[in-house]
Amino acid sequence: MRFVHDTLPQRVRFASGEAAGQLAEEVRERGYSRLMVIATESQKALAERILGELPVAVWHHEVAMHVPAGLATRGREVAAAHHVDVLVAVGGGSTTGLAKAIALTTGLPIIAVPTTYAGSEATSVWGLTEAGRKTTGMDERVLPQTVVYDASLMLTLPVAMSVASGLNALAHSIDAMWAPRANPISAALAGEGIRALNAGLPKVAADPTGLTGREHALYGAYLSAVAFASAGSGLHHKICHVLGGMLDLPHAQTHAVVLPHVLAFNGPAAPDAEQRIAAAFEAPSANRGLATLRSTLDAPTALRDYGMTEDAIAPVVEAVLAAVPAGNPAPVTAENLTALLRAAWEGDLPR
Ligand code: NAD
Repeated sequence: MRFVHDTLPQRVRFASGEAAGQLAEEVRERGYSRLMVIATESQKALAERILGELPVAVWHHEVAMHVPAGLATRGREVAAAHHVDVLVAVGGGSTTGLAKAIALTTGLPIIAVPTTYAGSEATSVWGLTEAGRKTTGMDERVLPQTVVYDASLMLTLPVAMSVASGLNALAHSIDAMWAPRANPISAALAGEGIRALNAGLPKVAADPTGLTGREHALYGAYLSAVAFASAGSGLHHKICHVLGGMLDLPHAQTHAVVLPHVLAFNGPAAPDAEQRIAAAFEAPSANRGLATLRSTLDAPTALRDYGMTEDAIAPVVEAVLAAVPAGNPAPVTAENLTALLRAAWEGDLPR
């Protein structure tokens, strides 16, 4: 065996129903005294409840998906004007993303309190969007110092968003199997991530206010993000990255739609990944495992349902071709990539 694996330095506190107490303990232990709390307007009340009496220097609610560069600049100005010593992000991947954009230039530590399964809190990947182009990079400054996971915070996440976000998490595990820095450790984490999501998501869909499914899904989402963080972006992420940046499609739903197509495309050329994924699903094949899970979830199926027009397929293909990850198991051509994207656009699921 011969491989390189990076383990990222981060504390995880996982305790359902205890976000406020866990956050307070973390802030006290680290000695922070000027908090910048980032949360969307709609999650303000939740954030206030979690923050309690902690020393908040400023509340910030200006958050948007894919972190528009102008919002990053304003967030940095607010952090500087209020002399904050820590960023507390309460919300989904968009909220964590803004905290990361601020940390990237200021070096401020982040405590993340996630409320979706996006997993951004467990990676050192940042993203910024300017003029229809999403730029991403890796920098340890943006990795949250601590993550406070409280599955009860997900109980309000609507089923459709929970499903899309959960499949976004699953995409982290599946794509990690053949991403450029994939290794036996990331594959082991990804396998357990798939197992936990496969156990949790049907329970979430059937009983959105039940804690057990939410806990399994959240645990799986964390493992999947850790696997992705060490393995890097595979073909699936490159495709979704272009779709998100160029067309501003909703992140989680885009991942949910594209995943079965990339799995069917790469799986046959990656027997080890195929076998690991199938085993994690306890299914005869990886495709069957994913299809069975999706059938219990009323999963998103077509990019055209999210505003993509047919004439966008060609420019997306061109942009993805310029960014195909090294060592992708199946050779990628303009022809087969066009077929993949057309099927994802139409909602023609692989059989
Ligand atoms: P999001 O953060 O935009 O949230 C989606 C919607 O759900 C929002 O309207 C939000 O207010 C609402 N919401 C969130 N939690 C809720 C809750 N518990 N109850 C009710 N409503 C709730 O979406 P997302 O999918 O979590 O994140 C997408 C963003 O994260 C994208 O910009 C993507 O690029 C980024 N991302 C980054 C990484 C990374 O490693 N850097 C990984 C995954 C996603």
